[in-house]
Amino acid sequence: MAAGTSTWASGDTGWRGPHPGRHQLLAPVPQDAYDNVTLDVELARREGWCFGAKLVRGAYMAQERTRAAEIGYEDPINPTYEATNAMYHRCLNYVLEELKHNTKAKVMVASHNEDTVRFTLRRMEELGLYPADRQVYFGQLLGMCDQISFPLGQAGFPVYKYVPYGPVMEVLPYLSRRALENSGVVKGAWRERQLLWQELKRRLRTGRLCHRPA
Ligand SMILES: Cc1cc2nc3c(=O)[nH]c(=O)nc-3n(C[C@H](O)[C@H](O)[C@H](O)COP(=O)(O)OP(=O)(O)OC[C@H]3O[C@@H](n4cnc5c(N)ncnc54)[C@H](O)[C@@H]3O)c2cc1C
Repeated sequence: MAAGTSTWASGDTGWRGPHPGRHQLLAPVPQDAYDNVTLDVELARREGWCFGAKLVRGAYMAQERTRAAEIGYEDPINPTYEATNAMYHRCLNYVLEELKHNTKAKVMVASHNEDTVRFTLRRMEELGLYPADRQVYFGQLLGMCDQISFPLGQAGFPVYKYVPYGPVMEVLPYLSRRALENSGVVKGAWRERQLLWQELKRRLRTGRLCHRPA
């Protein structure tokens, strides 16, 4: 399982960029994620295929740890949340720098973490990567962190909203796993409530309760 999440799961990311090539999943929860990303970027350069990655922090951390303990190999997961964050940003930064030199390469920043989105926007600006170039995509789950997705979309960034669907008995456990894993979602829900409340007060103050888009 560790190899499956840290290695690049070719063609299995649920995301397909517009250029042919491998589109892979990178999950920096494992400690060797940075080595994997540099290796794959190098392979893409040498073999001439188009690099694309969906970058997630990684799920199923507890299962990974249980499996490592059961089988008796070293725990592959970063020791702390902070270590996972540092690894995510290190991998992301490396990929963004690659994008600067390789205009066909692409990345999806699949995260509900506001700091990660801010980090991406700042590095894009510093590196001169523009939303219209369609090299950097963002991804969030439907109903989660809309306060991140909508402004990004309005500002011209390509944003994917994942729509989990299927039999209730399968979708509910999936959503509850996501809610448990995503500390960002809990913070996000709270933030979303704050923002909605602010907007309501603003409309009451200005006497314009109904929004009529132009
Ligand atoms: C659009 C989208 C697509 C996704 N697709 C996939 C997918 O294909 N495969 C997949 O596996 N996951 C996928 N995920 C889930 C993803 O891997 C994360 O679990 C989830 O997004 C939470 O991370 P975050 O960056 O949003 O937020 P945050 O809340 O900032 O990060 C939470 C994550 O930090 C890590 N973490 C938390 N505590 C610790 C700790 N003590 N030690 C080490 N690490 C820790 C875990 O990875 C946890 O999921 C997807 C998420 C999104 C938004």
